This record gives sequence, C-alpha cells and structure tokens, in this order.
Amino acid sequence: MHIVSLAGGIGGARFLRGLKAAAPDAEITVIGNTGDDINLYGLRICPDLDTVMYTLGGGIHEEQGWGRTGETFAVKEELAAYGVEPQWFGLGDRDFATHIVRTQMLGAGYPLSAVTRALCDRWRPGVTLLPMTDDRAETHVVIDESADGSPPRRKAIHFQEWWVRLRASVPAQAIILVGADDAKPAPGVLDAIAQADVVLLPPSNPVVSIGTILQIPGIRSALEEKTVIGVSPIVGGAPVRGMADACLTAIGVETTAQAVAELYGPSLLDGWLIAEGDETNVAGIATRPRPLIMHDVESAAEIARAALELAEELR
Ligand code: GDP
Ligand code: CA
Repeated sequence: MHIVSLAGGIGGARFLRGLKAAAPDAEITVIGNTGDDINLYGLRICPDLDTVMYTLGGGIHEEQGWGRTGETFAVKEELAAYGVEPQWFGLGDRDFATHIVRTQMLGAGYPLSAVTRALCDRWRPGVTLLPMTDDRAETHVVIDESADGSPPRRKAIHFQEWWVRLRASVPAQAIILVGADDAKPAPGVLDAIAQADVVLLPPSNPVVSIGTILQIPGIRSALEEKTVIGVSPIVGGAPVRGMADACLTAIGVETTAQAVAELYGPSLLDGWLIAEGDETNVAGIATRPRPLIMHDVESAAEIARAALELAEELR
C-alpha cells in the first residue's frame, strides 16, 4: 500500500510514528512543510523537516517535541557572548551540525530535496521525506507594531519571529506564504500523490503547516483526486498544544473541528476524525469520533488505524 501524508512539525511527526506502527508494510511518503524555514547565522534551518526526521529516526527530544535529545547549548551561549542576534531561537549544538551539513550542500548546488535525502541516510526515518518544494516559499506574518504610545506601524515579519519571539501574542493581521505563486512541488511529490492509495492529513497546524503545503501550485488539485482522511488538531475548541488558534483567527476561521473541516472543504477531505465529544457536519465529509490525544506511540497508532479504516470504507 502507498500512503502519502502531509506533515508539519510535532503533531505531524507524532502521528507519523503511529502510522509506521499501524502500517509497517506500507510505503509512506511524507510531504513536509518548509514554510517555517529560516536563515539564521548564515545557516538554513528547516524546523518541520527536522522534527519529522528526528522523531522518526529516534533522535528527538521527546518531552519538548522538537530538537535533539541529550542536547547542549554551548554554541548558542558563545554566539550570545558575541552579541549575535537573534537570541530568541533555540538551536542546540547537535542540531547545529544538521544545519551546517544542509547549508554546505545547498551552497554546493544541491536542491533541498537531495539534501533532505542525504540527511535521512543517517536518520533512516523509514519513510520517504520530501520537502513540499525546493523553491523558497516562506511564511510571513503581518502585524501592527505599536512602540510605546506612537501610532501602530504595519509590518511583515518572518513566521518564526511571530511564533517563537512573540509567542503569537500580537494578533496576526494576515499570514502570507511569500513565493508561493512561483514555487513548484519538489521532485517526487506529484508522483507520490498519483501513486497513493490513500492520503492522510495528520493533526498538524491547518494554516501554517497543512495550509502552506496546499498553497504550492498543483499539490491541492492532485490531492483532490484521492481518498483523503484528516485528523483534527482541534479538540474541544482548542489546539491540543501550541497556538494554532492564533493562526486560525488570523484567517477568519473559528478554532473548532467543524471550522477546520470547512476550511479544508469536501473537495479535499473525504473523511475526518474528530475527538469524542466534538461535532462536525459538512456535506460530503464522513466524520468519525475517536480518541485523538497522542499520549504515546500506541495511541498515535490507534488514530492512524482509524484513519486507514475510514479510508478503506470510503474508497
Ligand atoms: P508544529 O509545526 O510543531 O507546530 O507542528 P504541527 O503543525 O505538525 O502540529 C501542530 C498541531 O498539532 C497543533 O495544532 C496541535 O493542536 C496538534 N496536536 C499536537 N498534539 C496532538 C495530539 O495529541 N492530538 C491531536 N489531535 N492534535 C495534536
Ligand atoms: Ca512548524
């Protein structure tokens, strides 16, 4: 069986670990979000690809959900001692090595998809991990900045500055994927979708993870031809973790399983897993309530099994 799954960071990675356990014989291709990617200290950082790679490859900091296990922060401290900005982004020493390798290979002319393949040669995540695009498409957030008393000034900042530095505390007026119109799906993305028996949307951020991937020209229309099952990241009217509600609010969507199902729409979604106690009613989308909290690999596997069963039923 060929399975394609989109993925952001933590929610996507934990779901995928369950999916691997639920479908050990399946060929799984993961299309990862690269809208969160950023250049820092001359290095190219791809947080979501790395979270998937480390989680499936056994190198993730388990409690934190991102970054390396057994991490130290000597380089970060040394950079701070030089007064180098930014100081709000946490990169550990082990993690730095990944970004150095990536930046070196990109500098030598390899596309991100080839670089990701090379990094995965070490981590052996057990899936084919593809960036959504080899082109630069970066999420920016428009905010109104008010500096002590003066009238607010509208400006666009990189998603990471809004998410990590500001903790999404300043309302986003808009969220824009800069470069989306000119981006092409990475090599292998459309082929994998064409060959897929089922497509899964894990409980990743519907705006800045899944929504970003869907904006790369050609990807959404290819997915619409397939049986697509989604897992709601919203449980009881709130994100299970993180600040996805701030992203949904920015695009005028309520933080409910219902509103996210409507956002994806019946042209994309065939089936939708929601938490027990939630309700969704969208014509053309089959909804099933299930326990949706991923406490561990087994509970994530149980969600993946439910998604595959629903796909089987609808196919
Ligand atoms: P990020 O890039 O690290 O923010 O990760 P993702 O975009 O992949 O996922 C973030 C989303 O995962 C958030 O909206 C959370 O609500 C959701 N999430 C995290 N853990 C769980 C869980 O155990 N169950 C469900 N249903 N959603 C989860
Ligand atoms: Ca992310």
